[in-house]
Amino acid sequence: MKDTFKHQGLRKKLVAILKEKGITNEAVLNAIGKIPRHLFMDSGFLDHAYQDKAFPIGADQTISQPYTVAFQSELLNLSEGQKVLEIGTGSGYQTAVLLELGAKVWSIERQQELFKKTSKFLPKIGYRAKKLIFGDGYIGLEDEAPFDGIIVTAGAPFVPKPLLSQLAIGGRLVIPVGDDVQTMTLFIRKGPKNFEKHEFGEFRFVPLLEDKN
Ligand code: SAH
Repeated sequence: MKDTFKHQGLRKKLVAILKEKGITNEAVLNAIGKIPRHLFMDSGFLDHAYQDKAFPIGADQTISQPYTVAFQSELLNLSEGQKVLEIGTGSGYQTAVLLELGAKVWSIERQQELFKKTSKFLPKIGYRAKKLIFGDGYIGLEDEAPFDGIIVTAGAPFVPKPLLSQLAIGGRLVIPVGDDVQTMTLFIRKGPKNFEKHEFGEFRFVPLLEDKN
C-alpha cells in the first residue's frame, strides 16, 4: 500500500487534465490530487490508475472515470459538515472524495463482495464514512434523512422517489438517468413538493440494479 512520488506526479497531471476538461471546483480538484486512486484498483491496473478512464473493480463493476467523479462531486456543491448519501459504494473512491470534501457520508452497496472489500479497505487508508451499508439504493436511507446531497454512481433507469423525498430543502440529488446512455441530472429541492431539474451531458455507467441476485 504505497504512495510514491511517481504516483503524486501522475495525480498532478490528472488534475491538470480535469481542469482542461472544465472542472473548476478547487476543493474537488484538491481531493483528486490527494487520494491515491491506484490503491482502489487491482494491481493489474496500477499503471492505468491516473488515466482519465473507468476500470474494472471486480464483481462486474467499475471504478468511475475521474472526470465523472469530479463532475458529479462539483454538481453536489457541498460545504464542510453536510450530510451526503452515496448510492453505489463500489471501490470507495467516490466515497473518499466526498470525505475529503468534509462531508459526513453514508454509502450503500448491493454487491456483498464489494461491500465487504471496501468496508475493510477505506478505514485502512484513513477514510471513515459515517456508515457503509449493504443494501438497496433504490430505497435510500430513510433513517438518516434528510440529506444535503445524494449522489447515484450507477445508471438509473428512472429517478427513485425515495431519493427525492430524502433530500433536505435546498438539497441536491445528482443522478445519471437512462438505460444504455445516461443524462447527468441534478434535482434541487426548493420546497416540500417543489424540485428544480437541470440536465447535463451524457455519461455511461454500469446499471443501478433492482434485485439483489
Ligand atoms: N462510486 C463507485 C462506482 C462503482 S460502479 C466508485 O467510485 O468506485 C456502481 C456501483 O453501484 C457498483 O458497485 C454496483 O454494485 C452498485 N449498485 C448497483 N445497483 C445498486 C443498488 N440498487 N443499490 C446500491 N448499489 C448498487
